[in-house]
Amino acid sequence: MTLVAIDSHGHLQDAAFDADREAVWDRAVQAGVGVIVPGYTLPTSEAAVAWVRPRPQAWALVGLHPHDARDWQPGFADRLTAWLSQERVVGIGEIGLDYHYNHSAPEVQRAVFFEQLQLARRLNVPVSVHMREAEEDTWRILREVGHPRGVIHSFTGSWAFAERVLDLGWYLSFSGIVSFKNAQDLRQVAAKVPRDRFLIETDSPYLSPVPWRGQRNEPVRVIRVAEVIAAQKNCRTEEVLALAMSNTITLFSLNLPSN
Ligand SMILES: [Zn+2]
Repeated sequence: MTLVAIDSHGHLQDAAFDADREAVWDRAVQAGVGVIVPGYTLPTSEAAVAWVRPRPQAWALVGLHPHDARDWQPGFADRLTAWLSQERVVGIGEIGLDYHYNHSAPEVQRAVFFEQLQLARRLNVPVSVHMREAEEDTWRILREVGHPRGVIHSFTGSWAFAERVLDLGWYLSFSGIVSFKNAQDLRQVAAKVPRDRFLIETDSPYLSPVPWRGQRNEPVRVIRVAEVIAAQKNCRTEEVLALAMSNTITLFSLNLPSN
């Protein structure tokens, strides 16, 4: 089946899908939606790698989320490196900084983000970054490491921050938040972002777009995200889906299934 869209960030390995994971994935495949499944802990990274293996329209990322940065151990870099040698394991994520919750201490978050970003640069693989209320420190670390391949996932930052990361060669990814009533500033960012530098995602099972806000999210709803962006860019939804897919393929060097 030909792909019409790629959900660049959907946690299909999450326990929220334990009861009906195959039905959720069937709906995505029927709609022509592929998915990139990021890990956020070591077990969920391993689960992502295993889940995508038999599914040609699915790819995995491996990494330790800022919430869990306190769990980092010296051997983790080797585990990530080993997974990255497997087929359709295409990058490191999600990693980053979250000063909203501070589930791990900020200095621990910074050290673990820095280490995983350095690893990505050394291996020349792209990264997916989670950033919440941490623009200055995220920017400082991105600039310090100087790795030109990455995306700020579920972007909610300012246009000033967007311009900085775009200058570094990075991408912005929009989630269902772009459809929320109070997200006018984010819709302005979507209107302005260059056509060759944005991705779309669901962040399933979180962040369902309107009119499903508050419900469990799933990859097919990435099409709704594209509709909202199309309205901002005054173009057709199909065009946004095609642009975002092409940008996702470029950033993550994806090989598409051939049939
Ligand atoms: Zn996520």
